Amino acid sequence: MHLERIEMTGFKSFADKTVIEFDKGLTAVVGPNGSGKSNLSEAIRWVLGEQSAKSLRGSRMEDVIFNGTQERKPVNLAKVTLVLNNEDRYLDYDFSEISITRSYNRNGDSQYFINKEAVRLKDIVDLLLDSGLGKNSFSIISQGKVEQIFLSKPEERRTIFEEAAGVQKYQYRKVEAERK
Ligand code: ATP
Ligand code: MG
Repeated sequence: MHLERIEMTGFKSFADKTVIEFDKGLTAVVGPNGSGKSNLSEAIRWVLGEQSAKSLRGSRMEDVIFNGTQERKPVNLAKVTLVLNNEDRYLDYDFSEISITRSYNRNGDSQYFINKEAVRLKDIVDLLLDSGLGKNSFSIISQGKVEQIFLSKPEERRTIFEEAAGVQKYQYRKVEAERK
């Protein structure tokens, strides 16, 4: 499985539809200060279900929507789609290509889609659980995370190993089942 493409429209500084293709292997994103490198990595975390506006460097979720510049009016909708190549069926979903979309409107409307079908956030979380791709997974190492891993308590560090080992799914299902 690998990330094939990301499409962003109205997300932070990406006012117009912006499509970035990723080849297999290593991709480096370079650019001057303020050009949107961090915004791109936040777009990835956002579409994977990030719910904390603060961790996206905002104060409200609305802050992810392009809020205009001196030359351009703000827009009302932020939409991000990640396209994953799943030819190896790494994710338990019988499609060679999986697109995950999240959109958020200034009026508060929030929508999630898998392969263009409306789903709940939970469906996205379920799809990615233990895949190493979740919003907090070890596949996204944000600034400060390495330090955080080293400084964390053993119980907290255990979560990281548990995700890598793929056992979180069972704990999550247990909690779900107990709630019912
Ligand atoms: P650095 O090299 O300094 O880390 P960077 O390439 O990571 O820079 P970002 O932090 O991704 O840059 O981009 C910051 C830019 O995004 C700022 O110019 C900021 O004004 C703009 N920006 C952030 N949120 C929005 C928004 N909602 N609407 C419009 N522009 C935004
Ligand atoms: Mg940055």
